[in-house]
Amino acid sequence: MQTHFTPAQLADPEVAATEQILRKCVHCGFCTATCPTYVLLGDELDSPRGRIYLMKQMLENSQPATATIVRHIDRCLSCLGCMTTCPSGVHYQHLIDHARAHVERTYRRPWRERFWRSLLAQTLPDPRRLRVALKMATLLRTLVRGGARRLPEPLPALLRLAPVRLPRASAPEPTAAPSAVSAGRVGLLAGCAQSVIAPQVHAASRRLLERMGLHVVEIEGCCGALVHHLGRDAHGREFAARIIAQVLDKQREGRLDAVIVDASGCGTQLKDYGHLFRTDRSLAGAAAEVSSLARDVSEVIHEHGLPPIIRRGGLEVAYHSPCSMQHGQRIDAAPRELLERAGFSVCDVPEGHLCCGSAGTYNVLQPALASRLRERKLGHIRDTAAILVATGNVGCMVQLEDAAGPPLVHTVELLDWATGGPAPAALSAVLSRSPARNE
Ligand code: SF4
Ligand code: SF4
Repeated sequence: MQTHFTPAQLADPEVAATEQILRKCVHCGFCTATCPTYVLLGDELDSPRGRIYLMKQMLENSQPATATIVRHIDRCLSCLGCMTTCPSGVHYQHLIDHARAHVERTYRRPWRERFWRSLLAQTLPDPRRLRVALKMATLLRTLVRGGARRLPEPLPALLRLAPVRLPRASAPEPTAAPSAVSAGRVGLLAGCAQSVIAPQVHAASRRLLERMGLHVVEIEGCCGALVHHLGRDAHGREFAARIIAQVLDKQREGRLDAVIVDASGCGTQLKDYGHLFRTDRSLAGAAAEVSSLARDVSEVIHEHGLPPIIRRGGLEVAYHSPCSMQHGQRIDAAPRELLERAGFSVCDVPEGHLCCGSAGTYNVLQPALASRLRERKLGHIRDTAAILVATGNVGCMVQLEDAAGPPLVHTVELLDWATGGPAPAALSAVLSRSPARNE
């Protein structure tokens, strides 16, 4: 694609990087077929190629964002399916990140949008605030009962997504003493929303990694992905800088072989820290190091090998591949192979490349589109023979919770159970209905 940025514009490293990305696009349109919003809406401006034109026009002319551009950018899930499809290597992720930050700087949203975006940015990354907010949502849902649909958006979406019952925050398990033949020392990111909504995932990861002989140290806090995707890049960098500082501290105490993440949305963000801080003289090196250490938990287990299997589920499990895992980190085979090795029969979900509509805060801010994507995904899951759904991202677990369908678990919970850990609640429920399956 031809670009017409001026030398003055190109002096800004952000614009220079964007120009290089734009130049790679050859307008072929292959990406449109795998873009969830184009599949749903059939509008070129809701396809990657259409958005690329809009972003080019806005950035090349140094224009403030218009309501039309914002509408089409906001509808993008940042699922990165287009990056997997693109034969030219267009780095859409960095392009849309730049455009979202430009929108945030140049466009004044209606007050209602500002309020909700600000509330989400202040609440989701803070486990204490999130816990209070979810309790209030549960209370409100009880009060309004069937009348939730009459509430203004995005309240109905928020009430639907709030868990019926919050798991208790468990006391952190004591760090296991490093084994005499330690397989290494790793950091494990505690994260933010997952620690409130599904703390059992972190506990399962930790048990499993320790069973593999790894010495696990905790990295606390939010990675910054949630606010970054809202276009608040400075806010996102603040969170990222705290994670980087902690990793450096842990490195001073002893070598870290990896920084492990068990929510793939956060993993994609950590792997991008090197890019985020590339022009920051004080943090560029450390950020690049954290990115090089960042690994999804399934990658690490796959490389080290599972501990001995002591229980074989013998169950049909649908594997839902989160976009941040399959498109953001290009990890798809490892979780499936691990589940197979642990004795599960893995069913493919048709249209597995399409997003479920979760996408960070998308299911709150774009509830109509997110709900259509959810229904489409749930329909495909119901068409499989699966009695459980395994996935690798807490956002997908919340989005696809469906009383009428198979329950959701994190892949690592099943692997932990198969190698000696406790049964996740969803698996216990399934096994109690069909005890013969529990060998
Ligand atoms: S990131 Fe996803 S929704 Fe956005 S343009 Fe690419 S494929 Fe479409
Ligand atoms: S597939 Fe790649 S090169 Fe083709 S239109 Fe989409 S982004 Fe551009």
